[in-house]
Amino acid sequence: MKKTLSLTFSILLSSAVHAQTYDIVINNGRVVDPETGLDAVRHVGIHGDQIAAISEFPLSGETVIDARGQVVAPGFIDLHAHGLNVGDMRMQAMQGVSTVLELESGVLPIGAWYDTQAKKVLPLNYGAAAAWTFGRIAAFTNTEPRATPDFFQDAQSLDNWKQEIAYGETFNRLMALVEQGLSEGGLGIGVNAGYAPGYGQKEYFALAKLAAEYDVATFTHVRYLGDHQPNGAFDAMQELIANAALTGARMHICHINSNSVRDIHATLDLVERAQARGLPVTVEAYPYGAGNTVVGAAMFSGENWQERLNTTAQAFQLGDRRLTEDELDDLQANEPGTFITWHFLDEDQPEDLSLVDVSVTHPSVMIASDAVFWSYLDDNGMSLIYEGDEWPLPDDVFSHPRSAGAFAKMLRSYVRERGLLSLSEAIRKMSLMPAQMLEEFVPQMQRKGRLQVGMDADIVVFDLATITDNATYANANRPATGVQTLLVNGGFAVRDGSVVLDADTGRAIRR
Ligand SMILES: [Zn+2]
Repeated sequence: MKKTLSLTFSILLSSAVHAQTYDIVINNGRVVDPETGLDAVRHVGIHGDQIAAISEFPLSGETVIDARGQVVAPGFIDLHAHGLNVGDMRMQAMQGVSTVLELESGVLPIGAWYDTQAKKVLPLNYGAAAAWTFGRIAAFTNTEPRATPDFFQDAQSLDNWKQEIAYGETFNRLMALVEQGLSEGGLGIGVNAGYAPGYGQKEYFALAKLAAEYDVATFTHVRYLGDHQPNGAFDAMQELIANAALTGARMHICHINSNSVRDIHATLDLVERAQARGLPVTVEAYPYGAGNTVVGAAMFSGENWQERLNTTAQAFQLGDRRLTEDELDDLQANEPGTFITWHFLDEDQPEDLSLVDVSVTHPSVMIASDAVFWSYLDDNGMSLIYEGDEWPLPDDVFSHPRSAGAFAKMLRSYVRERGLLSLSEAIRKMSLMPAQMLEEFVPQMQRKGRLQVGMDADIVVFDLATITDNATYANANRPATGVQTLLVNGGFAVRDGSVVLDADTGRAIRR
């Protein structure tokens, strides 16, 4: 009798607690948490901005989401996103991304950048690293850095900061600017080395020492590209790994796929060996055979550069069209800051696709989109960055499909259609791994990338049977479909499969 009473009492008590406690509950979903290995039907209770319960029994709350037949996972963390305006974030939110970080390029000055972001209504968490290239441009041109992409674009017509070794005052000023970015809360040092490949070995070594001193990471787009020798991706990654070994700095390799191109097996071997020896080297990739960057980038210059990269003007795309040699020359000479898409592998060819596949499926590789700005052409054919808040995005803006599809493509192609990754492994690469890489020096990340009690309520609910990246090279301007709900800090960024237009749920991620 006594036992029955107490059992009844505890059921009453627990249902009373549930009724009162949760602001939002997500019931009946397949909850996947790669850190604990949980992959089962569970019911998730959210209180405020935190996950408050994960239960084997349905919960009740003020807002109830029925996730029957859907996957409930930690929101994805994009380490490599260049566009951090509301339009960029909505395209990311539609794929389940809850945190977008500008780590590869970074920005300067960092304090001013966070102040500007804080004034915007933004759905996703955001953060940035201190930009070495911005420091270099400022030091070589005797200017102050501006924390906007046009500072980098406008400098594309100048060669000194890209090709010259920094000495004396120039060197001191650029290092001081980077260090100031770290003291203002930057998430590490963005070393976009491929854009200023003329730097000296001592400079990269100094950056690594600075990162070690501040106990942060460097995020590097390595100095060289492709499989030729000397001065290919292999050499550039050896340089990076040497600096990690010599300084103890955490050093992250950005988009190993697009830097390695056809040499991905050799460069992944370097990463495996570095990691096997305990060096703090990490790596990311995106699931596409084309890149996107400014047409005046240093990688597209120098003696016989097309031959060296085994490419032609036909491989370059502006808007929805491929370029002729004359058009490419003209853009490089007159509008070097224009963003173009460069096709370096053909995903329709099985041999090329296998190179993309090995880069994103390797167990050490995290997924990061390298999402680029949305652009449009003005009346004079000049390409400008779209920073407005229209949704859907205006018909005439374009980007690389990865800006709207990288994470959804992993789930569609690699998990559902081709079975190259388990669901849990794909989620690990897109949420837990980036959180683990950052959490030792960015404490906020200890509560992200996990679907556990006490963690931040950054949660995606999606249908694995339908999730699809709709963005193509011909038309990148198509949001992904299949994400039903995205919570960021316990608030809705996506609800019933649609963007929440006034979502102000994003917060700064800052040291
Ligand atoms: Zn890059």
